[in-house]
Amino acid sequence: MARRRQIYEGKAKILYEGPEPGTLIQYFKDDATAFNAQKRGTISGKGVINNRISEHIFTALQVIGVPTHFIRRLNMREQLIRQVEIIPIEIVIRNVAAGSLSKRLGIEEGTQLPRTIIEYYYKDDALGDPMIADEHIACFGWATQDEMNDIADMAIRVNDFLSGMFAAIGIRLIDFKLEFGRVWDGDYARVILADEISPDGCRLWDIKTNQKLDKDRFRQDLGGVEEAYQEVARRLGLLQPEDESAVLDFDTHRKKRGR
Ligand code: UDP
Repeated sequence: MARRRQIYEGKAKILYEGPEPGTLIQYFKDDATAFNAQKRGTISGKGVINNRISEHIFTALQVIGVPTHFIRRLNMREQLIRQVEIIPIEIVIRNVAAGSLSKRLGIEEGTQLPRTIIEYYYKDDALGDPMIADEHIACFGWATQDEMNDIADMAIRVNDFLSGMFAAIGIRLIDFKLEFGRVWDGDYARVILADEISPDGCRLWDIKTNQKLDKDRFRQDLGGVEEAYQEVARRLGLLQPEDESAVLDFDTHRKKRGR
């Protein structure tokens, strides 16, 4: 069989040509990076878990009418997606102060924000994904005002949905990152949700203990990284019973290691 054509390789995923025009295959790697790729490592099994978590979330979002690039999961590490023209903006939605917001503005991590904040970052590794304002987006033509209105509306819907979904399994959605892409229908362009939603791009804290169940465990060398990703999947009901028996109970594991 001819090797399929690789279209793009990112930090956590590879995109291959899909079986039909307008489709791509998204392959989830175990590679992890942080701090603009200055820190690199692997999180064993992460690709498999993120593939499942992202499938679960994108499917649920489609049910409530948020259009996404997701078509179907193909196997443990791959999903079939619609090819989109990626809008070069990372949308960050924040409910609770953490990460760069806490650092830049001196607001203590864990402070509940009085209202949800949406921030925009220009997707450019060489520039370190700088934060930008609406004005920059319009000025440099990265997206139209209509597209940005649609994106902000969808981001708020996704936030409301995910906040409830995670709260139901004892997880507080602190903040997360979304990416959107354009699909063309003749001369008419439409914006849909793209990329992935997984513990790589979300801050997820246990509601009772504030334990971090996301990539901050990797960023901050907290240990228990694999277990944290598995715990999110387990609470979402995505691990099979045979997988579950293999998964160490997250709390017991951490206590054993004295963390
Ligand atoms: N995020 C991401 N990719 C990035 C930058 C941020 O997925 O390139 C996510 C991150 O996981 C967090 C949220 O966006 O859930 C806000 O990140 P923040 O601006 O606090 O940056 P960080 O502290 O992660 O550098």
